[in-house]
Amino acid sequence: KTKKMSSIIQLLPDHVANQIAAGEVVQRPASVVKELLENAVDAKATDIKLVLKDAGKSLVQVIDNGIGMNVTDARLCFERHATSKIRQAEDLFSLHTKGFRGEALASIAAIAHVEMKTRQEQEELGNHIVIEGSKFVSQEPAVLPKGTSFSVKNLFYNIPARRNFLKSDTVELRHVIDEFQRVALAHPNIYFTMYHNGSEAFNLPNSNVRQRIVNIFSGKTNEKLVPIQEETDILSIQGFVGKPEFAKKNKGEQFFFVNDRYIKSGYLHHAVMSAYEGLLPAGSQPSYFIYLQVPPHTIDINIHPTKTEIKFDDEQALYAILRATIKHSLGQFNVAPVLDFDR
Ligand code: ADP
Ligand code: MG
Repeated sequence: KTKKMSSIIQLLPDHVANQIAAGEVVQRPASVVKELLENAVDAKATDIKLVLKDAGKSLVQVIDNGIGMNVTDARLCFERHATSKIRQAEDLFSLHTKGFRGEALASIAAIAHVEMKTRQEQEELGNHIVIEGSKFVSQEPAVLPKGTSFSVKNLFYNIPARRNFLKSDTVELRHVIDEFQRVALAHPNIYFTMYHNGSEAFNLPNSNVRQRIVNIFSGKTNEKLVPIQEETDILSIQGFVGKPEFAKKNKGEQFFFVNDRYIKSGYLHHAVMSAYEGLLPAGSQPSYFIYLQVPPHTIDINIHPTKTEIKFDDEQALYAILRATIKHSLGQFNVAPVLDFDR
């Protein structure tokens, strides 16, 4: 005779589920920086400030002047799968925001001390919320500027293993700066500033792509850039590639943006490299800042939680068009070096 066993499966409590999800979304301070900056962009901010202490280990704060949240949303935003950006799965095919998974804030609040202040323009008072390890500590009305400020303190305070796994401040700051630059390059029309341990690290007034690149990577970059431009049915290309003679032995500054989102693509990188064929000294790499716009339904950005890898419908066509466009611009530059381009 077999005895019936009692069932052993349980639904995880939210704070446990959030902490597990956080493992995927939040690897280090730079991940928090990316999520908060992207939320500020999605909130239509025109001015975004990033404030850090100890490379973000002690504090990551993002202050924006965007649309803010009302009292209900201010609380809801910390729930898992809570998002204002999509309503149904089909919306993924017409996405115009950075976010859509509704998991960043829930994840971050599960593994840090979070303080949020937010006010919508039409409201007299805003909301001040404190939440620690997924538990609401307080929520109060407050006199606040328009927009939202998120302070994320003591990342991984409740997961010592993750906390100890963080690298030196120098290394973590490098990752933070990488994320900051990617978002700042993707949105040259937004004013970005960054402060670390009380001093200003970047001050990037709103401008165009060329000026944004120069503001980030120094004035000397300007003369090294060749503009690229192409417009087809399935794709528009804008941006700059580096003149071959400025190629570097180490990896140059290499950026792809697709629909205003920084992405990594070994395949498209190969297309760029093949356009430079015969122009580069062996083993050196060009810099490039390439902005692609494609119809949202022709890409899938939901293949990875951080959304830095995406899938294109027609990869081979993009490869061919990109390669030809860069080849053409590099060739043209040899004849007529001065071309201007404003995004
Ligand atoms: P997602 O960005 O994928 O929607 P998040 O967890 O990052 O998920 O944010 C949840 C929701 O909180 C967003 O959909 C948005 O409505 C709101 N939100 C987050 N950050 C801001 C902000 N800086 N300003 C206004 N609303 C915000
Ligand atoms: Mg988000």
